[in-house]
Amino acid sequence: MKDIIIIGSGPAGLSAAVYGRRAGLDILVIEKEYCGTGQIAESGQVDNYLGIPGIEGYSLGEKFREHAENLGTAFLEEEVTKLEQSDGYWKVLLAGGDVLETKTVIYAAGASHRHLNVPGEDKLSGRGVSYCATCDGAFFQGKTTAVIGGGDTALDDALYLSQICEKVYLIHRRDEFRGNAGTVQKVKDAENIEILTNARVQEIQGEQRVEALMLEDGRRLEVSGVFAAVGMEPVTGLLQGVAELDEYGYVAAGEQGITSAQGLFVAGDVRTKALRQVITAAADGANAATEAERYIRR
Ligand code: NAP
Repeated sequence: MKDIIIIGSGPAGLSAAVYGRRAGLDILVIEKEYCGTGQIAESGQVDNYLGIPGIEGYSLGEKFREHAENLGTAFLEEEVTKLEQSDGYWKVLLAGGDVLETKTVIYAAGASHRHLNVPGEDKLSGRGVSYCATCDGAFFQGKTTAVIGGGDTALDDALYLSQICEKVYLIHRRDEFRGNAGTVQKVKDAENIEILTNARVQEIQGEQRVEALMLEDGRRLEVSGVFAAVGMEPVTGLLQGVAELDEYGYVAAGEQGITSAQGLFVAGDVRTKALRQVITAAADGANAATEAERYIRR
C-alpha cells in the first residue's frame, strides 16, 4: 500500500513527489511514457519560471525529474486505465493488468492544447508555432505574429501580443467571436491588431522558423510567430464519474487540490484555474501533496 500514487510526471506531479518525499511518504509516480516534462517539452524556451530565465522546456523538466528522483521517488511507466475507491483507499488499475493500492491519489495528468492540424504546424512547433502567448510572447518583440481562434484565449492573446509585437493578425474561422464582447471591442480598438474573419489557416510555412501563413483563400501573411488558441482539452477521461468536473471538463477543485472524492487530489492544468503555467502547476503539486499528507495523518 503506497501513501500517494501520483498520476502524471509534469511539473505538478513532480512537485507533489518532492513535497511528499520530503514529508517521508512512500510515493509512486506513474507516467504514460518517460519524458519527465509534460507540456513544457512542447514550449521550446521557458522564460518565465522564476530564477531560471531562458531555460529549454525539456531541460527544466529534467531538472524537476532529477530533483524528485534524488529524493527517492519511484517511477513506473504504465497507463492507468481506471481508478476505484475501495473502503478508505484507492485501487489503481493498469493497462498491463496489475492493480496497485494506495491511501491517496494525486491526479496530475494535465491538459493538452488543441492543434490546428495543418501542414507545417508540427515541424515548426517551438520554432515560431506556440500554444501559449504568456509563455512565448516575449520572444516576438517588435515582430509580426498571428493568433488563431475566436474564443477568450485568442482575444486575450491578441491583446497581450499587441503590447509586444509590431503587428498582430487575429484570424478566426467565423465572423462572430465566441469570447467576451468587451474584449472583442478592445481588440477592435487596438491599432496594431488586424482582424481577419471567415479565414482559415491552410499551411504554416518556414524552413528553420515560421516565415508565413497561408490562408485557404490564397492570402499569404508574412509572420514570425503563430499562436494557436483554439482551445484546450483536459485529460480527465479517467475521472468521469469519479470526481466532480466543471462544465469544461476540468476537475472542480480549489488551490489545495481537494476533489469531491475523499483521498483524491488534483494538481496542475487538470483543475479549474485561471492561469495554467509551469509555476502554477508546481505550486499546485506542493499544495496537493501537503493536503494528501494531512489526509493520511488524519
Ligand atoms: P474556446 O472558447 O473553445 O474557443 C476556441 C476557439 O477556437 C473558437 O473560436 C473556435 O472556433 C476556434 N477553433 C477551434 N478549433 C479550431 C480549428 N481547428 N481551427 C480554427 N479555429 C478553431 O477556447 P478558449 O478560448 O481557450 O476558452 C476556453 C474557456 O476558457 C472558455 O469558456 C473561455 O471563456 C474561458 N476563458 C476565459 C478567459 C477570460 O475570462 N479572460 C480567458 C481565457 C479563456 P468557433 O468559434 O468557430 O468554434
